[in-house]
Amino acid sequence: MILVTGGAGYIGSHAAVELLENGYEIVILDSLANSSYESILRIKELTGRNFEFYEVDLLETEKVENLFRMHNIKAVMHFAGLKSVGESVSFPLDYYGNNIAGTLNLCKIMSRFNVRELVFSSSATVYRTIGNQALEESSSLGANNPYGRTKLVIEEMLHDLYRSDPFWKIVILRYFNPIGAHESGKIGEDPAGIPNNLMPYITQVAIGRRPVLQVFGEDYDTPDGTCIRDYIHISDLVKGHLKALEYLTGPPGIETFNLGTGKGYSVLDLVKEFSRASGIEIPYQVTDRREGDVPICYASAEKARNRLLWEAEKDLFEMCQDAWRWQAMNPYGYGVIKT
Ligand code: NAD
Ligand code: UDP
Repeated sequence: MILVTGGAGYIGSHAAVELLENGYEIVILDSLANSSYESILRIKELTGRNFEFYEVDLLETEKVENLFRMHNIKAVMHFAGLKSVGESVSFPLDYYGNNIAGTLNLCKIMSRFNVRELVFSSSATVYRTIGNQALEESSSLGANNPYGRTKLVIEEMLHDLYRSDPFWKIVILRYFNPIGAHESGKIGEDPAGIPNNLMPYITQVAIGRRPVLQVFGEDYDTPDGTCIRDYIHISDLVKGHLKALEYLTGPPGIETFNLGTGKGYSVLDLVKEFSRASGIEIPYQVTDRREGDVPICYASAEKARNRLLWEAEKDLFEMCQDAWRWQAMNPYGYGVIKT
């Protein structure tokens, strides 16, 4: 039995489908702080599989312990967390409290129940990005916002945990920019309020919920002046998680892998490719740079290719097609009308 924390969220829901479709038994824990129960129903509908769902916060120790008591958990895929960079700057204590204390609590409970297999969602934001170089797992680290720092602290905490008890098996996955949706269009990304990320903003402009996309700066030292990122299809990303789970069947240890494609695309590349995939022109206006954005960020995907035997397969066009299918089939995401 695999425990999926944050399984009602964007990445967790896709991972849950991938796990169920590959024959795993799962149980999902999510506070629904940033997601809705409808996604749980959709996972069941899509896979035709049943599983237990607990609307529980990781900080509710007794309830989390009960879950471990009720189910024979073998490994945990830990997605639960808050992820908005801007919000983390305004409310750092919420981020430290939720992400760090939540993970600390989870690990303590796992230890207590002798569950020592963990896949953790980290982020490319932990890298100190300099210049135009593919980021390797060994590249220098240094987050420049509270959200990123929570990921760095958790990574260090997991290393300390392994050092103290070498029976743990831990895989840290550093995601680059996951976009797109399940090809069925039944599950996808459903941000609350105004999207912070580029792709959901584009799809909301395309569906008519927002009038125009703001492109944050076109004076960067890049071919078209806009920032470059490593966009990765959510389906490829969650396949990487299954490879990580297989990796955990090996000897104990702690290992970090990038999940990216190794290719960078600019903001305007993504806008153009989205128009090609959807047939919809995206009106945009160039505004000031967004504070904290680095010009170029893309992965070296070598380590995951060699050690996890995983690589991303879907291209930018498919990412755009699938993101658009989800938005077109679900103009208001999981149904709650949000402005
Ligand atoms: P999401 O907000 O869609 O999903 C996170 C889920 O965790 C939500 O359903 C939320 O309700 C739940 N949650 C938050 N705090 C909780 C708590 N204390 N107890 C129980 N549930 C809680 O985000 P996502 O995009 O699916 O991201 C999943 C993980 O991946 C996060 O840890 C995020 O930081 C990380 N990540 C995401 C991205 C990205 O671009 N989406 C990139 C890098 C890393
Ligand atoms: N971006 C943009 N307009 C938006 C949202 C994002 O121009 O409304 C740009 C942003 O400056 C960055 C890229 O798109 O260069 C990806 O941003 P996102 O927030 O999706 O990911 P991250 O900053 O985490 O790489």
